[in-house]
Amino acid sequence: MLVKAKKNALQNLYIVEIVKGLAITMKNMLFGKTVTIQYPEERRQYSERYRGQHYIKATNGVENCTACMLCPTVCPAECIHIEAGERPDKEKYPVKFEIDVLRCCFCGMCEEACPKDAIKLSNIYEMSQQQREAYDKGFLLEQRGNK
Ligand code: SF4
Ligand code: SF4
Repeated sequence: MLVKAKKNALQNLYIVEIVKGLAITMKNMLFGKTVTIQYPEERRQYSERYRGQHYIKATNGVENCTACMLCPTVCPAECIHIEAGERPDKEKYPVKFEIDVLRCCFCGMCEEACPKDAIKLSNIYEMSQQQREAYDKGFLLEQRGNK
């Protein structure tokens, strides 16, 4: 048999519970730990291992990449597109190097696979762009972050 607990008039109006809830809110508002930051003036420090914006490393202004095609081969999202070319001072180089970041899952396998230490993932996490074709070779050569 269901026994109903008896409630007094205050409990029926939920006043005590409302006051208790308000007290908790006020306590957290006035003395609680702040978890928000004043972005963009303040920025979060991410781990050293954070994998963000890709970039291509260059030595003396020439990209380290030799268009060996290892990174597009291992990429699980198939989002790296390279067009290889040849030039006298280098056996092969990427004429085109594009990453479709909308498909990328930032697994870091391209970085792991690269024998030339050419493709890297930086700690840059602000990756919004105004142009769709922004993630091309020229753009990737300019990015670096603090890695
Ligand atoms: S981080 Fe992973 S998904 Fe993104 S381009 Fe590299 S291999 Fe592909
Ligand atoms: S694995 Fe490295 S060298 Fe090979 S195509 Fe990718 S970035 Fe270039």
